[in-house]
Amino acid sequence: MTVYEGYKPVIGLEVHAQLTTDSKMFCGCKVSYGASPNSRTCPVCLGLPGALPILNKKAVEYALRMILAVGGEVALHSVFTRKNYFYPDLPKGYQISQYSQPVGRGGEIKYSLENGRTKNCRLNRIHLEEDAGKSLHPSSKERYTRLDFNRCGVPLIEIVSEPDLKSPEDAYSYLNKLKQILQCLEICSADMEKGHLRCDANVSVLPKGKKKLGVRTEVKNLNSFKGVKRALKYEIARQIKILRAGGTVKPVTLWWDENRRAARLMRTKETSEDYRYFPEPDLWPLAIDMPWLDSIRRSLKELPDHKYNRLVKQYKIRPYDARILAADRLLADYFENVIACYNNSRDVVNWITTEILGILDETNESITEFKISPAMLAELLKSIDDGIISGRTARQVFREMAATGNSAARIITSRGLRQITDKKVLLKEVDKVITANPKQVEKYRSGKTALLDFFIGEVMKSTQGRANPELVSDLLIQLLKK
Ligand code: ADP
Ligand code: MG
Ligand code: ZN
Repeated sequence: MTVYEGYKPVIGLEVHAQLTTDSKMFCGCKVSYGASPNSRTCPVCLGLPGALPILNKKAVEYALRMILAVGGEVALHSVFTRKNYFYPDLPKGYQISQYSQPVGRGGEIKYSLENGRTKNCRLNRIHLEEDAGKSLHPSSKERYTRLDFNRCGVPLIEIVSEPDLKSPEDAYSYLNKLKQILQCLEICSADMEKGHLRCDANVSVLPKGKKKLGVRTEVKNLNSFKGVKRALKYEIARQIKILRAGGTVKPVTLWWDENRRAARLMRTKETSEDYRYFPEPDLWPLAIDMPWLDSIRRSLKELPDHKYNRLVKQYKIRPYDARILAADRLLADYFENVIACYNNSRDVVNWITTEILGILDETNESITEFKISPAMLAELLKSIDDGIISGRTARQVFREMAATGNSAARIITSRGLRQITDKKVLLKEVDKVITANPKQVEKYRSGKTALLDFFIGEVMKSTQGRANPELVSDLLIQLLKK
């Protein structure tokens, strides 16, 4: 049984990932976001006559990392190609890309659905390509579209999947995994909202029992993973409706309008002939040398699946927690850096998944912006173990640390939060509570010993949470016996 009654969706994604190299793909211009428009351009990336491109080795290295990470095949010989088209944000009139001989072929991405089931999506190819500029249409009042060429020539890899994805949920989980891999390899920030990751979704539907894939459409302008899911649901439903009514789906390119949650026609689908591809005459074919490739392979960062398995084994943490950490390389690094100073993995993981993720969610910060360093968190946890503060006070100290960046010791001292462990002082407090609650004392003595928690709570209240709970509990048990 499926939600699509009699039809099976078939989805293939083309993902463009902006590589985080220092400079552009074929010139020395800096790749920088938020720089003033057109301040990062030169004759090469503007395509002025006579300017010649020089390939950025780092961009190739980043592409190779990705190909190796997904188990693809690296072509030791590949070719750059000109893809010709006219568009205002493309001053050269062509994009340097790769076409029939890409640098990477095959490979696969293993992803998990929200219900925990794992699936596979084969990749068709991974190739290198330069980005185009940006058209800015600031407001409807403005008479002109503005052009910013800073993005022209920024290196991209395009990751093209096989049409293996069977549902919008598959596509969503695939993208999440892809993002994790890119981040883990430190080659792309993979922030779709900022356009560092862009996705075109190809989709068709197949009547049950049929084998030959149907006509596909391509949906563009997808700005978030959730948007991809919504757009696919919309487009699948539209195609099924057409087929049910006896019509045929036309091969078109659609533009997803996230505000209206609808897709509109952008153009009829371009075919490869439209681009007049030909080998880029200003660049040599790309030859990859084996020792270099081997050194890249050896220095590959640990991938999410491997990290997950290692975290579970090495630190004996719950699979659920390991999954959260493995999905975010920086969070996992944070975890391991705390562990280096404080060796109780369960406590550390609990603080991360509850307190830290809670605060980051509230403040919309990333772990790198978080004011409490791993060593500072370790210090806070140690002061609980050493009996300097209670777990409850620690949460209060933690909040203040996160807001101010001050150390635990400093906050504990300046706020007078140090735990009371002096027996004389505690005895006084316990006495007070016992005198003030004669009825409860009577009940306790007649067998309702569960009331101990009530008494402990009262002492904690009267000491603003500073009393050492174990000592209080011992004293109470002694005194209530009589
Ligand atoms: P183009 O560059 O013209 O978009 P590609 O051959 O590179 O064409 O394919 C683009 C994407 O379309 C790939 O991800 C592929 O998996 C997907 N695709 C191909 N055929 C279908 C289909 N019938 N239904 C859904 N997706 C498809
Ligand atoms: Mg396409
Ligand atoms: Zn340039």
